[in-house]
Amino acid sequence: MSDNWGLCRDCKWWQIEPDAAIENPTMGLCIDAELQPYLVRVSGNSGCNRFMEGKPARAEGSSCQPPEAVPQR
Ligand code: SF4
Repeated sequence: MSDNWGLCRDCKWWQIEPDAAIENPTMGLCIDAELQPYLVRVSGNSGCNRFMEGKPARAEGSSCQPPEAVPQR
């Protein structure tokens, strides 16, 4: 199951702050439907095999500890 593995910074399920740069140290919320209940907070340099290529979503509170943003997708 590693065929689809990719980095959060290139994944459409990564949700970051409205003004955040798409960079390795940037922290955001994973909004993959299966992972949403866990409020997984990940960096641009994190990754997993739920990866789907695309631009990140954006919402205020995505980088809080724990994340406070509503998933935008
Ligand atoms: S944890 Fe996986 S699904 Fe979530 S944003 Fe990162 S690569 Fe995408």
